[in-house]
Amino acid sequence: TIVANQIAAGEVIERPVSIIKELVENSLDAGSDSIDIKLVNGGKSLISIKDNGDGIFKDDLKLSLVKHATSKITTSNDLLYLSSLGFRGEALSSICSISRIMISSIKNGEKQGWQIYNEFDSMDTNIKLSNILEGTLIEVRDMFYNIPARLKFLKSDKTEYINVEKLITAYAISNPHVSFSLSHNGKLLKKFNRVTDNNDVEKRLSLILGKRFIDNNSYFKSTFEKIVLSGWVVNPDINLPSCQFVFLNGRVIKDKVVNHAIKQAYKRYDIINQNYIIFVDLPKDQVDINVHPSKYEVRFSNNRILHDFLVSTLSNMLIKNHK
Ligand code: ADP
Ligand code: MG
Repeated sequence: TIVANQIAAGEVIERPVSIIKELVENSLDAGSDSIDIKLVNGGKSLISIKDNGDGIFKDDLKLSLVKHATSKITTSNDLLYLSSLGFRGEALSSICSISRIMISSIKNGEKQGWQIYNEFDSMDTNIKLSNILEGTLIEVRDMFYNIPARLKFLKSDKTEYINVEKLITAYAISNPHVSFSLSHNGKLLKKFNRVTDNNDVEKRLSLILGKRFIDNNSYFKSTFEKIVLSGWVVNPDINLPSCQFVFLNGRVIKDKVVNHAIKQAYKRYDIINQNYIIFVDLPKDQVDINVHPSKYEVRFSNNRILHDFLVSTLSNMLIKNHK
């Protein structure tokens, strides 16, 4: 079963950023409003993530490392109405099969926290008392230590770090009510404090993306047949370091239909500086996020309508802003 698990893990986990994506989504699902991430050597030696969410019960801690153990769905029908980011119950078990993992957690309302640790692939995990005060701390060490062939495919520390930085930036954009910090090799490199007032969302964006972004963008929001598109388009005449973010119901996605529509809108006006933040929000039964374990890919029940609505909404914005 360990081998099977390693093969499956390969689908979800390719590099440090894939681990971070799963762990950050878990922290968000747990209702955290503060998430601190630390990497050593681009995440290859250590990924540490600390949140202030609901925490995990002692009995669930052991289960959390077992494949297809999820607390987030109880029937397969629930898959249609997912509100949480995770649901497959394979992230932690996959990470467990390719690294040394330590989870320390205290369930909200409990007096005592617990810690679990796996080493050398043994499911013989032992549970110990932990003095953690709130939320969950997860440390993932020595990624792919037991699969040298995969280790070879990792890029330089710098490149792996940059990938993580981009992902954290994206989650900071889509979750303004959550504080994020990111440090690498002991240096704090990013810190985005949460906002409590919706009027401050743009202030936080300027903290994340720089003042030039906020001074030169236009906000849009448009609804058609239960599809809500919103976000910011940067004035095409302004040259900013690339800033392209697309979210589907709050998730970071990479979708062909959406990307094609965006390209088409920009191409109409031959615009080179393509900088945008786009939120696509759809009723949950109109999108299937269960296509691929990484949940980057999605499937829409009506591609055409979404595609054309995106093209027309963006085109309107671009023509307004393009002199
Ligand atoms: P999934 O997110 O698909 O349920 P995971 O393998 O990512 O599966 O996580 C397994 C379970 O561990 C989750 O369902 C959740 O109950 C628990 N869990 C993981 N991370 C956290 C966290 N940071 N805070 C609270 N619970 C967590
Ligand atoms: Mg998860």
